[in-house]
Formats: sequence, structure tokens, C-alpha cells
Amino acid sequence: MERFDILIAGAGVTGGMIARELSRYQLSVCLLDKANDVATGATKANSGIVHGGYDPEPGTLKAQLNASGVELLFEAAKMLNVPHRRNGSMVCAFSEEENPVIDMLYERGIENGIPGLKVLTGDQAREIEPNLSQQITKVLHVTNAGIVCPYELTIAAVGNAMDNGVQLVRNFEISDVKKDDEGFTAYAKDGRQAKGRYFINCAGCFADDIAEMVGDKFYQIIPRAGEYMLLDKAEGSRVSHTIFQTPSKDGKGILVTPTMHGNLLTGPTAAQVENGESTETTGKYLEIVQRLGGKSIPSVNFRQVITSFTGVRASVAGGDFIIRMSDKVDGFVHVAGIDSPGLTCCVSIAKYVLDILKNAGVEMIEKSDWDGTREDMHAFSKMSIEEKNEVIRNNPSYGKIICRCETVTEGEIIAAINKNPVALDLDGVKRRTRSGMGRCQGGFCSSYVMKLIAQHTDTAMTDVTKNGDGSYMLTEKM
Ligand SMILES: Cc1cc2nc3c(=O)[nH]c(=O)nc-3n(C[C@H](O)[C@H](O)[C@H](O)COP(=O)(O)OP(=O)(O)OC[C@H]3O[C@@H](n4cnc5c(N)ncnc54)[C@H](O)[C@@H]3O)c2cc1C
Repeated sequence: MERFDILIAGAGVTGGMIARELSRYQLSVCLLDKANDVATGATKANSGIVHGGYDPEPGTLKAQLNASGVELLFEAAKMLNVPHRRNGSMVCAFSEEENPVIDMLYERGIENGIPGLKVLTGDQAREIEPNLSQQITKVLHVTNAGIVCPYELTIAAVGNAMDNGVQLVRNFEISDVKKDDEGFTAYAKDGRQAKGRYFINCAGCFADDIAEMVGDKFYQIIPRAGEYMLLDKAEGSRVSHTIFQTPSKDGKGILVTPTMHGNLLTGPTAAQVENGESTETTGKYLEIVQRLGGKSIPSVNFRQVITSFTGVRASVAGGDFIIRMSDKVDGFVHVAGIDSPGLTCCVSIAKYVLDILKNAGVEMIEKSDWDGTREDMHAFSKMSIEEKNEVIRNNPSYGKIICRCETVTEGEIIAAINKNPVALDLDGVKRRTRSGMGRCQGGFCSSYVMKLIAQHTDTAMTDVTKNGDGSYMLTEKM
């Protein structure tokens, strides 16, 4: 493999957005991930909230990057045609004892420079959100906050970076990193190598393992799981804002929020787990999700839950992001401890990392032909009937509905299998097109999607996986 200017470990939203920012410049960049797709770590399983910025301790890197990150994120989501909405959030107190927390968060938000914060009484808040609990006594209304689809943002950022020259290498599980006078060599478990002058470590819950490989592990990732329940679109309009309860030492508490695709999401819990792959859901924590979600919005019908899932936060002691050039290993950039609000801060983190590289002497010459825009992944579904008919006349595969729950056509699935970063497995198609995301969770469409993946990637049906690495769906041909 050629020697790149920059290697990035981890194709989550952090590594993906750094890759996109770097793709503006005349630099060769290689993005490495151990998975069969991008956005398979914390980035695929979180609340999808663009946090307003009232929560981080003033003076921390989180506070700084959250304050600047909100507008940068909305701007990037717009350019990349990724679903996002500034729906605003509400933080709710449920008693006279909790009321001072709302005032404290308001003051903290002002100190962090956050615009549009308002303190409301329970009744004022219920006028805006009629389904809020009658128990709610005081509310912080965060008007700059929003929601975004986190995995679509990452797919789009990586796709856009690739369209601008970045190379993505999947199934590259870094098992060692060596440094010599020319830079870094990353070794994959299967013996492949990737070389680069600079190395940016964005490996999420495994960032400390990679720091150890270069002899600069000065922090330990503390993996903290958050469990969620996702409800059918029938419940999607219970609230229009994202509804939080007052935060505790474990995080921002259980929220209830609409998602960008019209569902209702409630969670997450917070519990330390073994590692970043501990993504099982448990009766114990889902019961808490249901109870506390129902505390904010009592009318939620939990019989409408269509799936549950867990995401794992890559937390560190001290709680702040660790983003800096290594003191010990020249050219190695730590991007660690990226737990919440890491999604909100993905663009501000990327710009911060670019400044670190510039200060280290990396020459950044802008490309004259850089294009930061990307086609809408859901363009077809947004067309008028006349426009759809025209597309179908030119390409009849857009006339064939494959996923009935989410109304996804064969044409959209084939496009996802062919567009950077191409979908190689069932979950990859699901995250790009939403086929399998609906009420039946892929019960009807999975076999047909598998057939399309096999046809369009020249693979045998028995080799098609759910999410790479031996997750075969079929064992033999009947
Ligand atoms: C429950 C939960 C709720 C959250 N809610 C929000 C929210 O509402 N708003 C918000 O702003 N933030 C939220 N966050 C935080 C946000 O999700 C994360 O900050 C963000 O997704 C981190 O992205 P990342 O790219 O750093 O990490 P990841 O997405 O975890 O990516 C790391 C990547 O590194 C790869 N990797 C790991 N080890 C290796 C290796 N050895 N070799 C090669 N590749 C490797 C992995 O495959 C993975 O793709 C939440 C997080 C969680 C878990």
C-alpha cells in the first residue's frame, strides 16, 4: 500500500468527519476501520441529539466544542443532505427540590455562550408540549438544540470524503502500530499494513488499546452502555421537542425524543460494561427506560416498541474529551474520550484536529475542486408523483417496492450498493436506505435485499452477511 500523509483509525462520526475536513486539502488520507462498514460503533447507537451546550462544565474542551459545534453540525448536515431538524429540547424538573437545577443549567449555558435559552414554568412548557407530565414544575427550553440521523451523517461524511479522494479500508483491525523516521505503520490482524506520516486515533471504545500500541496510553476508556427502546411511527408525534429530565452524575438521564425518521426514541441508561462490544439489551435496564420515559410523557404507548438497542460510550476519568498531539510520540494525535456530546461536536472536533496538525507543520493547501455537497440518500421518496413516474420510466427498478414498512424501492437499494461508501451487507443497506428499519424489522424484505447484494457485488447468496465478519444469513443452498 502507498504511504499516506495521514492515517485515521476508526470510521465513526469522529474519524469520518475528520476525513471529510482533511479531504479539502492536497493530502493523501486513509481511513481504517475494523468493521465491514462505517458508523458501526457508538455512532450507530446513540440518541441523535444535537445538544444545545448548557450541560458541559464551563472551561472544558467539551463546553468549547459544543458551543461552536451546533451550528457547524447543522451546516455540514445541510451540505451533505442528511436528515436534521432544529426541534429544540426541554430539560424538566419534577419537584421544588429539582427546580434549582434548571436555574443552574441556565446559568451554565449562559456561561458557555449558548443562545436561545429560556426558563419556563411547567404550565408554559405544557402549552408548547401538551403531552408533558403534569408533575413537571420547571423547564429549561433550549431552542438551538436539534436532532440528526447519526449514521447517515457519517455515511455521508465518509462518502463525501471518498468522492474527494480519501481512501476507506474496511475489515482492517489494527493489532499493532509501529513508528520509524518516516512515520507510522499500522498492522492489521490479517497481516495487511498501512503507512502514514501522521496517525489520528479515533477508535472510540478501543482508543486506549491503540494508544498502548504506540507506548502512550495515559488514559483508560471506561465503557458505559446506554439502552434504548425505539417505538413505531404511530408514537412519533407524542412530542416535537427532545424531552430530558434533570441530569445526574451518570449523564443526561432518560430522554424521550422524536427521531429524524418519525419514530419515538426513549433511553439511554448508563451502566459500566466490559467493553465497547457489550451491546446486549437487558430486562433490568429496559424496565428503567420504560418507567422513566413514561415519567416525562405518561401517554407513551410502550406496546408500540419495535426494537431495543444499546450503544456504548467511550468515557474517560475526568469526563472531558482528550484531543491533542502526543507528548511522547511525534505525529500521533489522540482523539479519545469522545462520549456525549461527541456527535454534536463532530465538526468542531474535526476542525480542532486540523489545527493541531497545522501547528505540527502539516501543510494544508486547499484543493480547487473540493466539493462538500452530497446527493440526498432519500431523494426518491421526497419526489412528487410526477417526478417519481419520470424516474421509474427511465429506471423501472424504482417502481418495485422492496421494504413495505418504510416504502424503499429496489432502485434505492441498488444505488446504496453502488455509492461511496458502498453497502456490503444487510445492515449497511438498512442504514443507507431504511429497508428493514420499520415495524417488521426486515421480516419481509431481508431475503430480497440479500439477493440484490449478491447480484450487485458478484457474491454468492450464502456469502452475504448481516454485518460482516462471519454473520452469514444462510448456511447452504437448498
Ligand atoms: C448511549 C449513547 C448516547 C449518546 N447520545 C448522544 C447524543 O444524543 N448526542 C451527541 O452529541 N452524542 C451522543 N453520544 C456520543 C456519540 O455517539 C459519540 O461521541 C460518537 O458517536 C463517537 O464517535 P466516534 O467516531 O468517536 O466513535 P465510534 O463511533 O465508536 O467509532 C470508533 C470506530 O473505531 C473502530 N475501531 C475500534 N478499534 C479499532 C481497531 N483496532 N482497528 C480499526 N478500527 C477500530 C470501530 O469499528 C468504530 O467504527 C452518545 C453515545 C452513546 C453511546
